[in-house]
Amino acid sequence: MDDLKYGTRNKRGDWTPKTPLKIAPIYRLPWSAAEIFAFVNGYFLPWNLAFMGLATVYWVYLTPDLETLATLSPGWVLLLLGRNALAVLIFFGAMELRLYVLRKQGNQFKYNHRWPSENKSDVFMFKSQTIDGAIRTFTTGVPIWTAYEVMILWCYANGIGAWSSLSAHPVWFVLLWLAVPIWHEFHFYCIHRPLHWPWFYKHIHSVHHNSVNPSPWSSLSMHPVEQLLFFSSSLLYLLVPAHPLFALYHLQLSGLGSIVGHIGFDKIVLGDEKLMDTHTYNHYLHHKYFEVNYGDGTVPLDKIFGTYHDGTAASDAVLEQRMKRRRDKMAARG
Ligand SMILES: [Zn+2]
Ligand SMILES: [Zn+2]
Repeated sequence: MDDLKYGTRNKRGDWTPKTPLKIAPIYRLPWSAAEIFAFVNGYFLPWNLAFMGLATVYWVYLTPDLETLATLSPGWVLLLLGRNALAVLIFFGAMELRLYVLRKQGNQFKYNHRWPSENKSDVFMFKSQTIDGAIRTFTTGVPIWTAYEVMILWCYANGIGAWSSLSAHPVWFVLLWLAVPIWHEFHFYCIHRPLHWPWFYKHIHSVHHNSVNPSPWSSLSMHPVEQLLFFSSSLLYLLVPAHPLFALYHLQLSGLGSIVGHIGFDKIVLGDEKLMDTHTYNHYLHHKYFEVNYGDGTVPLDKIFGTYHDGTAASDAVLEQRMKRRRDKMAARG
């Protein structure tokens, strides 16, 4: 597989896709049927469909009955914690193993020529980005995610919230399924932007940005306060009519789905001619440049507020101008 058919590699060895990033085609005129079809396809495949499938398996086989859920008890809380931890271990672990330990595709489609394991740094526990990320994921990330899940299911079992059923509102449920990733991204933008304000950045968000060259275990490597904010998008289900299956889906999308953006590779090589798009580049650029792409491009807020970076030299120039204006303003303030 020749990755130079799809991108270019600079002297250092950093690979860049040839096609610039674009915000969702729905916001770009004139509308192109082919682009919209490709977007809708990518909207569901592979991630959203996989997370909905997993949530359905959880709901049918790995969630206790209503009577059990109505009372908090260590048994079922630990079951949920265990299944979430196991899913993360398998999913993040498989990506890490394939791409970073066994290096199955070498540096093909890899944005940054360096490997995180070569960057021993004091900002990480045990000087390792991977170990630091795994510790933060399992000690606070997965427990906080599970706490939201427990609370939502407990509310459901006790009749707290606006719950409904698929048979009562089929059209609404399809719309809700379409809307969940959009809500998730909108909420993420709204918490992420303030996390870049100096005090919050220094005390909270810098933990996540220690991974300048992100890899799978960077995904949930966050300060616990950021994890609390990050998973709070699931509280939506206490406000809008939904079924608990959506809350499970949403939390998988947030928890397991956080890997999208932190894979470090543009495509996963699955066979001689088979490639899987990772949808990672947008958030990779956020880790690289910090002050761009607070969202993921499905919700066009970065475009509206002038912080969108599409990976091109033109976007580099716009960012440089923005940073210069900021430096000048700070200097003028003395
Ligand atoms: Zn990130
Ligand atoms: Zn950030």
